Formats: sequence, structure tokens, C-alpha cells
Amino acid sequence: MSYVAPLQDMLFNMEHLAGLDQVAQLPGFEEAGLDTAQAVLEECARFTQGVVAPLNRPADIAPSSWKDGVVTTSDGFKQAFRQYAEGGWQGLQHPADFGGQGLPKTIGAACVEMLNAANLSFALCPLLTDGAIEALLTAGSEELKAAYLEKLVTGQWTGTMNLTEPQAGSDLALVRTRAEPQGDGSYQVFGTKIFITYGEHDMAENIVHLVLARVQGAPEGVKGISLFVVPKFLVEGDGLGARNDVQCVSIEHKLGIKASPTAVLQFGDGLAGSVADGAGAGARGFLVGEENRGLEYMFIMMNAARYAVGVQGIAIADRAYQQAAAFAKERVQSRPVDGSVKASATIIHHPDVRRMLMLMRATTEGCRALATTAAASYDLAHHHPDAAQRAHHAALYEFMVPLVKGYSTEMAQEVTGLGVQVHGGMGFIEETGAAQHYRDAKILPIYEGTTAIQANDFVGRKTLRDGGQVARSFAAQIEETEAQLQSCGTPAAQSVARQLRAARLAFLEVVDFMLANAKAQPNAAYAGSVPYLMLAGNLFAGWQLARALWVAEQLLPAGQDPRFLRAKIATAQFYAEHVLVRTAALRNGIVQGADSVMALNIDDF
Ligand SMILES: Cc1cc2nc3c(=O)[nH]c(=O)nc-3n(C[C@H](O)[C@H](O)[C@H](O)COP(=O)(O)OP(=O)(O)OC[C@H]3O[C@@H](n4cnc5c(N)ncnc54)[C@H](O)[C@@H]3O)c2cc1C
Repeated sequence: MSYVAPLQDMLFNMEHLAGLDQVAQLPGFEEAGLDTAQAVLEECARFTQGVVAPLNRPADIAPSSWKDGVVTTSDGFKQAFRQYAEGGWQGLQHPADFGGQGLPKTIGAACVEMLNAANLSFALCPLLTDGAIEALLTAGSEELKAAYLEKLVTGQWTGTMNLTEPQAGSDLALVRTRAEPQGDGSYQVFGTKIFITYGEHDMAENIVHLVLARVQGAPEGVKGISLFVVPKFLVEGDGLGARNDVQCVSIEHKLGIKASPTAVLQFGDGLAGSVADGAGAGARGFLVGEENRGLEYMFIMMNAARYAVGVQGIAIADRAYQQAAAFAKERVQSRPVDGSVKASATIIHHPDVRRMLMLMRATTEGCRALATTAAASYDLAHHHPDAAQRAHHAALYEFMVPLVKGYSTEMAQEVTGLGVQVHGGMGFIEETGAAQHYRDAKILPIYEGTTAIQANDFVGRKTLRDGGQVARSFAAQIEETEAQLQSCGTPAAQSVARQLRAARLAFLEVVDFMLANAKAQPNAAYAGSVPYLMLAGNLFAGWQLARALWVAEQLLPAGQDPRFLRAKIATAQFYAEHVLVRTAALRNGIVQGADSVMALNIDDF
């Protein structure tokens, strides 16, 4: 088996860190307790391990291809996607009213991880569809919901997200695609979008593009952007009508995720059968919500997608870890330094290989724990009966999204890099598959907002806007965990408590630094924005592992699965002693090193 879903860790996180029992008390989630979670996860593991994972390597070798506007996905993708849709997986977290299963994100996120670990390229199609569903649910009119949601939720159609243009990447104020009102409520859309994931493919009968465009006469910048639904085929009654004027003019050749088609889409060029007044009359689009509020709606979609991309980081890291651990138990090389074997032994005997494997394991488990607790906040933010509680959890979730996205995807670079390193020379050779994980992972800190864009959001919207309130409230919770660990008394708990305290103080120092400098010396503050994001992500993942350690210490005497619990304790301790300690260096860089970042003149580069 090339991938084994980490069900025990996922269920442990849900039960003991994310409070699934609390989530299962929310209206609508009454059936979503631990038993349901276990049954869903086991079924998902069977599907992802058995059907999706085996397609990963062959699809990297024979990626999706383009010919005359038609994209053919890699062998097996179409059939696997059918099975995915028929199994109800697309609708797992979406409302039953539209054909979904209405399960909480706390459970759904684990399934997203499995699908991505099995095959990142394949999983991107459902990931983008989830974002489109979320945007329509939140901002779509009843008419749009009726026309599109059920088909998307059941996986009959798929969704895309069309933001990027050649001149508008991180900076969406520069979007130029234009939309002309037709007087009948519809618009004609003209423009070029690039890098559109699954912008064209053969896995579903229709593709629902969500497109950012400017209505004629709209204000400049982000305040003049609107969001449109532009379907590949127009919807007529219950069926499909004419082909819309949106054409895939090419797909990209990429470093990784090669099987995921990344399309250049031309809207309104008359290339693909126009539907209105003859060729070139525009692609017919339908406004989502109100004009000029597109970016706001797109943020709904992006927040869903940003969280999911963070989970992609965890997924690919786990896949790389599993493969490296298996290799390290097979590859024989060198005598162990402690003389425990008198001849050459498997490389897992060597302390440095163990260090690499522990680093891979600990950061992956830490990020998974963080993502799971963030998912529970999302569920509480959306389903808690009390409005004040909803607002409280929404603020917590919003704070954690850039950490899940930014930290987990950067962590995946280190972990997949170590995955290659554990393999030695064989890691550099494509056949082992370790190199694919490394290549595939590289996109994760780039799309859905680069790490720098996450960090800007984390500094500006998440830290400065409320004067550091949420940041400090988290720090207070972390302090409570430290006290718990200190009273626990085991050497592991004591060590973790010490490192957690140091990391929390470093975090608070940087929060103060940001608050003091962001206005007066913005370059000094933003020179440290990514390191601050990494510091906070590192701390939050470490905090969740610290909580996990405490739970494991409590459960251990009862004797249930001591192997898992001991491994959890050791992993949390390793994280604290080898990863949490990096926060001190990050703090120093941010607080003491801002000037050197901007010291050179532009001409000196
Ligand atoms: C495989 C793939 C799939 C994609 N899928 C989609 C999709 O489905 N839909 C879609 O709309 N787009 C998609 N994208 C586009 C992706 O979201 C963008 O590439 C990404 O947002 C970065 O934009 P850019 O490439 O223009 O880089 P730029 O914005 O030009 O950034 C270049 C560098 O400058 C930095 N930078 C830019 N602005 C700032 C700032 N304000 N502060 C600090 N640093 C900054 C960036 O961090 C980066 O390091 C995809 C891209 C790829 C490669």
C-alpha cells in the first residue's frame, strides 16, 4: 500500500483536541459523533488508498493533455472521479438540502487530507468545487443556488476559481476582465484568465467558473470587482444548453501537480460557440450577489480554499513521511554508532535519520492537530445557536486560517525535502516517488495567496485590526496549557511546558513589536511578517501537540493503546525541543533584524 491513512491520529485529534462531542451537540450535527467520524474515515481511507493513491505516480508520468481546446485527464481520473461523486464525497461537508451529507468540517477536513495525500493533482478538482459551493451558498441568489448547487454538491459538475490574469496575481486590484450588463440580468464577460486549476477537463459534464470581472464604469481597484458565474455549458431547465464562449487555449507544463490541468481561459473571444448575438459576443455570465462586492465573496471562497491548501500541505507531508519511514527500515547502510548491530544495518538505526524522521513526523502531526482544532472553530462559528459564540469562534478561526495555510505549506517544503534526503541518491531519482512529493509540494506556498500574502493578512487583519486582542487571548489559553503540563510532573511534560512558555513569550514580544511599529515604520514591521507567521504557526502547532501530550499522559495509566500514546508523548516532546525552539531565532530576527532586510538600495541588487 503506497499510502495508509493515519486514522488513529485523526480520530485522537477530533476527540481530544477539537472537542468533537461539543461539535456534535450543535444543531444539525447531532449524528456527527465519534462513531460516525470513525465510520466515515474508514470508508474514505478505503477509497483513497485503494482507488485514488495508485493513480498518483502514473499520472505524474502521463499528465493531463490539451488538444484543440479539449483537455484529457490522466488515465483513471475520470473513473475515479465518478466513484468519488457516486460515493457522496463531494457533498460530505455541504448541506443536505442540496444533496450533501451535512457533516462538520471537523470530520470533513480529515477526508480532505486523505484525498490529497492519495493524489494532490486529483484532489484539486474537488477542492476548487468546494470553494465554488461555499461562495454560492453564501452570496448566490436563490435562482443561482437552484441552478447550480445540487449539481456541484453531488459532483455531477465541478467548479473553478478565476482570479488570476497575466498582470493580476497577488494584486487583484489589477483585474481587467470586463462584464457588460445585457439588461436581462445577465452579463457578457470578456477577458483572459490564467493558471485556472481544472479550468477545462473531461471528468464532469459541466464546469462552473466563478470569475472576477469589472462591470463597465465600476470604480478602480478592488472596490470595482464583481463576481460572476460563467458555466461552460449554459443551464436550461434541468439540462444543459448551448456551449458558452469560454475556451481553454492551453494548459501549463509545470514543476509538480502535473496531472492537474492548469488552464489559460479565454472568455468572449468567439472561440467556443458563442451563445448570444453571434461569435465573439461574450461569455454569458450571471452576477453573484451585488455588483462591486466580488472580492468580498471571493474571500469566502478563498478562505475555504486557503484552509484546504493548508491541509494539502499536511497531506503531502504525511505521504512523504510514510514513504521515508518505510525506506529507512529497508535500506541497509553503515554500522550503527552505538554498536547495537555489528554489521551494516538499516539506516533507521542512525541518529540523524531518526532526527529527520522525527522532524517530519512531529511537524506533520502538529500541523494536523492545528488544522483539526481550527476546523472545530469553523463549525462552532457557523452552527452555534448563540450569536456571541458564533462571532467569538469566527474570530478564532479567521486568526488560524493563515497559520494553517502559511505554516503547514512551508512546513511541507521542509518535510518533503527531508523525504528526499532520507532516500539519499535514490530520492533524487524519480522512480522512488519521493521527488514527486517534493515537486508537488512546491506549489502550496504559492497558490491561494503566497506565504507573504498570508503573512500580510496575519499582520494587518488578524493582529493589528483588533489591537492584538485575539492574539493575546490565544496566548492566555496557551499559558493555561503550560500550567496543566507543569502540574502533570513527567519529565516530558516539564520540558514541553518550558519550551511552550518561551515560545509564547517570543510570540507576545513580536505581537507588541508589530503593534508598535506597523504604522510608524511599516517596512520594519513587514520585514518580519513571514517570520511572524512562521513563529505563530510553529507555536500553535506546538501548543496543540502539548495539549495532546497532556491527554496522552492522562490516558496512559488506563492502558489503552500505550504504543500510540507513548509515541504521541515522544513526538510532542521532540517537537517542543527541536521545533518550538526555533521561535526564539524567529523573534530575534524580527525584533532585532528588521533594518538589514531593507539596508541595500534597489540598484545594489
Ligand atoms: C499551478 C497553479 C495553479 C493555480 N490555480 C489558480 C486558480 O485555480 N485560480 C486562480 O485564480 N489562480 C490560480 N493560480 C494563480 C496563483 O494564485 C498565483 O500564481 C499566486 O496568487 C501568485 O501570483 P503571481 O503568480 O502573479 O505572483 P506575484 O503576485 O507576481 O508574486 C511574485 C512574488 O512577489 C511577492 N509579492 C507580491 N505581492 C506582495 C506583497 N504585497 N507583499 C509581499 N510580497 C509580495 C509574492 O509573495 C511572490 O513571492 C494558480 C497558479 C499555479 C502556478
